[in-house]
Amino acid sequence: MVKEAYHKVMNCMEIDYKKIGLKVGLEIHRQLDTKHKLFCNCPTEPKEEGREIIFTRWLREAQSELGEVDPAAIFEAKKKKKIVYHGDDKSICLVEMDEEPPHDLNKEAIEIALSASLLMNSNPVDEIHVMRKIVIDGSNTTGFQRTCIIALGGWVEVAGKKIPIQTICLEEDAAKILEQRKGEVHYDLRRLGIPMIEVSTAPVIESPMEAYEVAYAIGRLLRATGKVKRGIGTVRQDLNISIRDGALIEIKGVQELDLIPKVIELEVARQLHLLKIKDELLKRNVTAEEIHSQPIVDVTEIFVNTSSKILKKKISEGCKVLALKLPRFSGLIGLEAAPGVRLGAEFSGRVRAWTDVEGIFHTDELPGHGITVEEVSSLYQKVNASNLDAIVIVAEEEYRAREALEYVRERAIEALHGVPSETRAAKPDGTTVYMRPRPGAARMYPETDLPPYPVRKEYIEWLRKNLPPTLEEVARRLVEKYNLSKQIVDELIDMEKVELFEKIINEIGLQPTIIASILTEHVKSLKREGVKIEELKDEHFIEFFRLLSKGVVAKEAAYDVLRWLSENPTKNILEAIEALGLRPVQMGEIEEKIVQLIELNREVVLKNPGKAVSIIMGELMKEYRGKIDGAKLYQMVSSKVYGQRT
Ligand SMILES: [Zn+2]
Repeated sequence: MVKEAYHKVMNCMEIDYKKIGLKVGLEIHRQLDTKHKLFCNCPTEPKEEGREIIFTRWLREAQSELGEVDPAAIFEAKKKKKIVYHGDDKSICLVEMDEEPPHDLNKEAIEIALSASLLMNSNPVDEIHVMRKIVIDGSNTTGFQRTCIIALGGWVEVAGKKIPIQTICLEEDAAKILEQRKGEVHYDLRRLGIPMIEVSTAPVIESPMEAYEVAYAIGRLLRATGKVKRGIGTVRQDLNISIRDGALIEIKGVQELDLIPKVIELEVARQLHLLKIKDELLKRNVTAEEIHSQPIVDVTEIFVNTSSKILKKKISEGCKVLALKLPRFSGLIGLEAAPGVRLGAEFSGRVRAWTDVEGIFHTDELPGHGITVEEVSSLYQKVNASNLDAIVIVAEEEYRAREALEYVRERAIEALHGVPSETRAAKPDGTTVYMRPRPGAARMYPETDLPPYPVRKEYIEWLRKNLPPTLEEVARRLVEKYNLSKQIVDELIDMEKVELFEKIINEIGLQPTIIASILTEHVKSLKREGVKIEELKDEHFIEFFRLLSKGVVAKEAAYDVLRWLSENPTKNILEAIEALGLRPVQMGEIEEKIVQLIELNREVVLKNPGKAVSIIMGELMKEYRGKIDGAKLYQMVSSKVYGQRT
């Protein structure tokens, strides 16, 4: 399974990762399935939505209590954003709104984090100290995230290699971003404060595949606690990636395990590309001073009659077109080494992150976008450029265009040094975008509202004696108890359906193999078809099996019913059955139909009953597929056909 996932994302990039000195460290974050949040009594999964709460804040300049201003904080503060928070009174309280100090640490969360630590051979601390970590993108109302170290050291074994664990922390999840507009950002506060465990490995991982395996192994150990949340948005993986002569790059928010190898491959390609560009720039004798001394030139007049829609629109709105010459950069900005891996993307990513300015052009992609050869040649003349040079243009209000080009200049100078160290955000396709500079060391300071929390030795010993079974042990138990194959059991485990599976067995009954195969095979093939299976809730499955056990729906209908429900997640199984025309038929109706078909095929029935059964079954299945259990139907037909002969 691991290999299959890896090959899916490999695009034949033949790189000797050891040779280029790849080092990857993982930070795995996973929400804990506690009753209430980490620092207040709000539920982590509210039963109902309460009265809506909306309020607005402005980003403030954040300074750590050590008096140093953090570069990441300056970055956010420079953007001067209005923050709008959304929540409801059943999911958030004054703590999330930062109107009340945090309550005591959630003991349930501490216990889960300690158990997970012991499963990873890590050493619990004697005293838990809550710290504040500056995060001022607005995702925390306080301007910081509360976090605490639970255990230090430890290891997990993956394919015979011990991967050291550095720290295991417990932290509050941040608010979820809903929408980002010019100068304004909206957050959902319902997620803020949900306990998360954070497991950090040492940067000893040496290939994209190994990173996948380590993340998979840690995920399995966390799940063994039986107390982690499941599904999209409950897991986030951050990666620290570096190669020799490159830089340490932090990539945030990889949600899918399968995506990890691809993100690493693309990041390696990006760093190698930037190193090549550096070499080429040095060969062309480009210097920082030269880039620095280039004036920003107003070239609006060249484009007053342009056929470029974007430029035309901007100029009509009173914007200016400004240009910056990059000496001897020709050909290097548009060069693409892998999907999205271009110096041009570095420029636009940097500009977008700091200024919200969209739409920057460079001469490697011109003429194009409606900009003509003549306009390009006037542009070269106007800024005194030769064909060895490249020019970047931006159309915006003058001060914003100027600001944007200053960021391009800064990034172009950094290109002379290779790979700038930065924090990037992962996108769902595995590419990454510039997010902010790497935070400095002044990010943490103690939470003064909470006293240290002592962890007693006896408590740890008690936890050690009562550790949950590992998933390998769980698999052995399921195989034995329900007489299932190891393969299907592993699938139940990997798809996180064990609990649901056992719940259905205990509450409803039915044959274990039927339940297991619908929960795994059916769901997997729906996923392959692109069906949004994350819309399927446990209740959907439970209801399906309940109705199956009562004969209201046939197991053959599972596929269609589940697909319909994923498209209509607020509806129930009965509505699905109705909508799909799968209402099971009355037995009387079927019996009548069988009698009719026997009449029609009387001759075959008498001569060759086996053949008659298959003819009649064929006819019936045309009409009743999905509405009645095939085996049951077969039994009915056989007994009627053979009954005719006696
Ligand atoms: Zn609360």
